[in-house]
Amino acid sequence: MSSTATDVKNAAAQGGTDWDPIFDEIGLPKDPTNIYTQTVATMLRAAEIINLKHRCRIILAQPKNEIMVHFPVRMDDGHHRLFKGYRVQHNNACGPYKGGLRFHKDVHLDDVKSLAFLMTMKCALVQIPFGGGKGGVNCTPRDLSASELERVSRRFTAAIANDIGPDYDIPAPDVGTTPQVMAWIADTYSALSGRSGPDDPFAVVTGKPVAVGGSLGREKATGQGVVDVLREMLPDFDIPIEDMRVSLIGFGNVGSWAARILADLGANVIAVMDHTGALRNDEGLDVYALADYTAQNGSIAGFEKRTGTGSKTTKHSGNGADVITEDEFWSTPVDVFIPAALEGMLNEERAKQIHCRVVAEAANAPTTPDADKVLQQRGIEVIPDMLCNAGGVTVSYFEWVQNRSNVTWDVEQVDRELNRIMCMAARRTILARQKYDTDMRTAANIAALEHLGDVYQHRGIWP
Ligand code: GLU
Repeated sequence: MSSTATDVKNAAAQGGTDWDPIFDEIGLPKDPTNIYTQTVATMLRAAEIINLKHRCRIILAQPKNEIMVHFPVRMDDGHHRLFKGYRVQHNNACGPYKGGLRFHKDVHLDDVKSLAFLMTMKCALVQIPFGGGKGGVNCTPRDLSASELERVSRRFTAAIANDIGPDYDIPAPDVGTTPQVMAWIADTYSALSGRSGPDDPFAVVTGKPVAVGGSLGREKATGQGVVDVLREMLPDFDIPIEDMRVSLIGFGNVGSWAARILADLGANVIAVMDHTGALRNDEGLDVYALADYTAQNGSIAGFEKRTGTGSKTTKHSGNGADVITEDEFWSTPVDVFIPAALEGMLNEERAKQIHCRVVAEAANAPTTPDADKVLQQRGIEVIPDMLCNAGGVTVSYFEWVQNRSNVTWDVEQVDRELNRIMCMAARRTILARQKYDTDMRTAANIAALEHLGDVYQHRGIWP
């Protein structure tokens, strides 16, 4: 039986799972622990609130294409290993499929489907002319030599080369992939396509090194976008950036850039945790030195023992760090907590323990639905992933525009345009929140769905 818009809004407000009849209609499993089910349920609750057309709901509830490939790679010792790769193309109503490639041991189909879905919503929310896609390879890049990683990247590209393209589906970096991996992909695709010149095949991926068509400002773009959104939204919560206390989980590209840009603005990053442990300094960690250290050592482990001063003169240069336990990390009092690692790390238990006023989701899908419910009950604001981390794909769009029009932008232009797009998306989310009196995640979903609904209304469905 169909639920009323009010029932659904109440369920959304409580973070509850509401089984929309669409789950039965298109045969989706009603498993509340399944990440794809959770993503679709969130979308359907927002769709019900704005009375989105049924045809849009069923189209969005499933990806257009799910591509799975197996490919052999010669390892350094001469034996061959078979790898499994994915590319899920969720939706292209607004433009070519767009989204990262993840190299990680936990990559699996439902995860990639959810992340592809999130890309459709993210691009619609910031209103760049792309759809959503995501892909990846089941592997642990840390355990591969540089030449094995290159062969995995090139063989994977060869396996999906007929399914990607600068006008059709444009991959980018994600967890475990780097600008170098993008360069190998572009080079392989280019060699296979046999084209060059104005129809530049290198535009097949974004997040490339600047030397081969990457954009200035792309490396820090996701972290920069997180900070742009915080600067736009924190005044509404009466939190001044200057001297605010921040904790971060994950200190890779996104976390370390967000930390450095926040420190430049006078914030104090007082606790950081990664897969090896956690560090704390109540005066503020020297995040520039920590970023240099992790770039050299692969993790934050041992940073507290290093000697010497910081790498940049900030008010935190030369500060030390204490090793803390995981429980101490989660209960450290801060103004803003930034999850910047993998999905589902902020679970129900941690949501009860956490001591912050705002969660800024720099990672994709870091908060489980049960944790969302706890955070809402505790009055903790969540700035959702599809808004908070959209800076990366936005600068990817700028890179693609530069590649396609044979121009280069200076970093000031990139930063200015990024800030404009992020602030507009933040305002769109706040407006939807006020209009429908709902939480921020539902509001961001609503703002994205309104755009997608509009696009389908104009395009129609043919034949
Ligand atoms: N992987 C990033 C994301 O999840 C960037 C995607 C892109 O630039 O296409 O948003």
